[in-house]
Amino acid sequence: MSEIKEYPKEDIKVVWESSKCIHAANCAKGLPSVFKPREKPWVQTDGASKEEIIEQVGKCPSGALSIR
Ligand code: SF4
Repeated sequence: MSEIKEYPKEDIKVVWESSKCIHAANCAKGLPSVFKPREKPWVQTDGASKEEIIEQVGKCPSGALSIR
């Protein structure tokens, strides 16, 4: 099932599209204080600065993560 989730951080939103995610876990390895696949919600934007989150989102290989 495909879903799109949004996680707000200050004036941006982290958007995650489940159908594009290849579960490469780059996000969880690169910024484990924010991307926690075993927890709910799995994206916890309090865990890092906006800049760190934007940088990590840019490293998602599938494009499942984006910034709005
Ligand atoms: S880096 Fe992108 S593709 Fe990999 S697990 Fe995270 S969201 Fe999914």
